[in-house]
Amino acid sequence: MTLELSDFAKGLRAETAFDVLAVARQLKATGKDVVELQIGDSPFPTTRHASAAGVAAIHDGRTQYCPSIGLPEFRETIAETMNRQYGLSITAKNVVVGIGAKVFELFFCEAVLNPGDEVLVFSPQFPTYLPNIQRRQATAVFSSLREDNNFRPSIHDVHQFVEQRKRARAIFLNSPHNPTGGVAEAEDIAAIADAIRGKPIALFSDEPYDQMVWRGQHHTPLAMEGLLDQCVAAYTFSKSYSMSGWRLGYAITGAAMAEAIGKMINTSLSCIPPLVQLAGKAALLEDAAERDQNMAKFGRKVQLLVERLNGIDGVRVVPPGGTFYVFPNVTAICNRLRITSHGLAMYLLEAADDSFGVACLGGECFGDAGAGFLRFSCAEPDERIEQAVEFFPEACSRTDRVARYLSDHDAYNLTTPYKTLQA
Ligand code: PMP
Repeated sequence: MTLELSDFAKGLRAETAFDVLAVARQLKATGKDVVELQIGDSPFPTTRHASAAGVAAIHDGRTQYCPSIGLPEFRETIAETMNRQYGLSITAKNVVVGIGAKVFELFFCEAVLNPGDEVLVFSPQFPTYLPNIQRRQATAVFSSLREDNNFRPSIHDVHQFVEQRKRARAIFLNSPHNPTGGVAEAEDIAAIADAIRGKPIALFSDEPYDQMVWRGQHHTPLAMEGLLDQCVAAYTFSKSYSMSGWRLGYAITGAAMAEAIGKMINTSLSCIPPLVQLAGKAALLEDAAERDQNMAKFGRKVQLLVERLNGIDGVRVVPPGGTFYVFPNVTAICNRLRITSHGLAMYLLEAADDSFGVACLGGECFGDAGAGFLRFSCAEPDERIEQAVEFFPEACSRTDRVARYLSDHDAYNLTTPYKTLQA
């Protein structure tokens, strides 16, 4: 007998980046040369002291259970680091350790949402926000991030949401933003804080790219007067310290919320591996210089990719204010080839050439508001990035291959042209 899946499981949409990664790796295994710009991972090794501390922790026997909310010494180091960096005055009580940043989306939703509640989501959005909102049978309300506003959040939409939605309960904010690279400015953060302060609305501030801001500086809502108890801000070691496979992150929030999330870890994961936490502690204490060198390398890669892409006919890029993603508008090319943006991405990988491919994602993998864009990450060496960009116009000129690909992949046919933005 085959078990019937729950309605939730049946409708679950997973992060496409991992699916494209699987296709890319499969093609590579058959001998195809693929430039992998599909997933937001770091090409650098885990920072030096973090690796050494992780290995030492295994030898020291730090391999058993530990407190669900996190190791006291690690929570303290995190609090001190955050206070120094962002001028906060938090303590270890405001810190809860998790397996990366993503899991806090789930815990945040469990902590604040009841069925029927409404959540403001700026779109395009990180793909796992919606499944986590759906887990609580809550509803997402979308606000589009606009290219002509540098993908900054619309404060007008925040006010409308807070004032007009009866079940308004939470806001998901992600700055610097994946996939657009947009950065919320200090005035945006202050305006969002003013709109919700003292109201029963919680803010999930997803900040995995806090170390990757290319113009100005990163602003966290945690620094806004009186907002700590209303905010859960999530951070990760995945990007800054190249530790995506270690699975380590943390959230900063009010002490009561941190306790509540600690209980969620107790009842699901039990705890985060202590040896991983000790690696993270060493990263914070000793690897800031290596982190900053790596971040500078990312910054140069982003610049290179933007410059090269802007030189291609039919492509327009808003230079990202942060992150290692570049989000070019390719509506003109899609309309000409009558292919959806994710269709174009998959064509570049699978069909544009027999021996060479480029893996990236269509903007619609991040919601309808992303349609007409591609998302490239910068996780490959510079010469590979250049190779990928050179290949792009050549691939688009092979219209016989495009036609063949579309006849085999009906879902990628663009039936209604994308709206093109005026230059
Ligand atoms: N949120 C956003 C916006 C991200 O881009 C990512 C990573 N791609 C995550 C959360 C998840 O981070 P982690 O791997 O640390 O769980």
